Order: sequence, then structure tokens, then C-alpha cells
Amino acid sequence: MATLQLHNITKRFGDTEVIKGINLEVNDREFVVFVGPSGCGKSTLMRMIAGLESATDGDILINGQRINDVGPADRGLAMVFQSYALYPHMTVEGNMGFSMRLAGVPKEERRAKVLEAAKILQLEPLLDRKPKALSGGQRQRVAIGRAIVRNPSIFLFDEPLSNLDAALRVQMRIELARLHDELDATMIYVTHDQIEAMTMADKIVVLHDGVVEQVGSPMALYHHPCNRFVAGFIGSPK
Ligand code: ADP
Ligand code: MG
Repeated sequence: MATLQLHNITKRFGDTEVIKGINLEVNDREFVVFVGPSGCGKSTLMRMIAGLESATDGDILINGQRINDVGPADRGLAMVFQSYALYPHMTVEGNMGFSMRLAGVPKEERRAKVLEAAKILQLEPLLDRKPKALSGGQRQRVAIGRAIVRNPSIFLFDEPLSNLDAALRVQMRIELARLHDELDATMIYVTHDQIEAMTMADKIVVLHDGVVEQVGSPMALYHHPCNRFVAGFIGSPK
């Protein structure tokens, strides 16, 4: 069970306010998609949720507990980025088990967790390979596998598919939807791709210039955009 709440979250870099008082609720097991143009603050917001960046103002709550001062490793979250650097000298198994190794998890237990994640991601035949012997899609799956083995209660994906070609993106979308069903996890997913947002989301959050323009189901946003910006972004006729 994992819920996330943002209360009046603000982020300033120097004199520039890039996140301007965002309020948001993410429910348990919800698949929430953040959309918005480049530079609107999607990654900054995700990094604050992950604890990689501190909020200038406001509260972040997980399951009702304020976590602003909790370190990234202790928030029960796992983040997958667009640039998912794998360790080139380690095998797929080594890459997927690395965070557990750092945490002192015994070898047998690490192996069991990696095998479980590899099964979900269809990586079992590739566990002994090095990253350079993998395709782009397979590498991205390893990056997702690294997140799965940590048993996060909330997954954060920041444009994880944008380096993949169109056909692979479609396939990975289907896999992520399946993953969401199988893992019972709450997922927050950032994209600037409207089709991805419309097909994957339970709830879409439209961001523009550091503020939330509208929150709603894909159909609600499509049929009832609150303004021209949302209409333009979601592709509805208004
Ligand atoms: P998005 O992910 O939606 O493209 P970002 O969150 O990366 O947007 O960036 C939002 C704004 O914050 C941009 O104007 C960007 O230049 C600025 N920004 C992001 N990180 C920093 C930083 N570390 N220092 C100064 N400005 C930053
Ligand atoms: Mg970004």
C-alpha cells in the first residue's frame, strides 16, 4: 500500500522558481502520468519525490508520513531514468543485484530476487551477458529490473522509453502495463508523448511552467480540457 501526497511543493534554483506550489494526490496502485512540454518541471518534480533534490517549500508525504527529510534510499521508491547507465563490466545479473549487494543482502537471496525479476522481464536467458551484448530494449529492461528487485512501493519512471525506437516503445508500454498489474505497485510515469499518456494512465497530470494545469482521467482530459493549453497538449478538439 502506497499513497503519495504533495502539499504546496515549490522549487527554486537561485531566483528562478521552476515548481510553483504543486498539490497532488497519488492513490495506492494508481498509474499516474505526468505530461508537459520540455522544461516544465517534470524531472525536477520526480527528483524531489525521489529525494534526489530537496523541495524549497512544501511537504511530501508517503502513506501520510512526511518524508522531506528521509534520504532517497529510505523512501521505499525506485526510479528509472531515460539514461539508464548500466555498469559495463558487470553482467545483467550483477547489474540487477548491485543495489542489494551494497545493502549486504546475501548472495543466494540476491540471486533469487534477480531470477524473479528476470522472469517478469523475460531476461532469464541473458543474465550472464554484459550490457554491450544487449539491444536497447533489453538494456532498458535491465534498468527496470534493477528497480523491481528493490521491491519499491512506488516506481518513478522519467521518460524511460524515449531512447527506444517506435516499435519497441509500443512493446515496452504493454510490458509496463503488465508489470503494473503484476507488482501491485503505485507508478508515476513522466513522458512528453501524449499517446503514451493516453494509453497508460489511470490519471494524467498536465504540467505547464511549474504548475498543474489539470488532473484527470485520459477521457476526462480529452473530453473536458480546462483550457486551450490542455486541449492542445492532449490533442482534443476544443
Ligand atoms: P522537464 O523534465 O519537464 O523537461 P526539468 O525539471 O528538467 O524539466 O526543468 C525545469 C526547469 O528547471 C528548466 O527551466 C530547467 O532549466 C531548470 N532546472 C532544472 N534543474 C536545474 C538546476 N540544477 N539548476 C538550475 N536550473 C535547473
Ligand atoms: Mg525531464
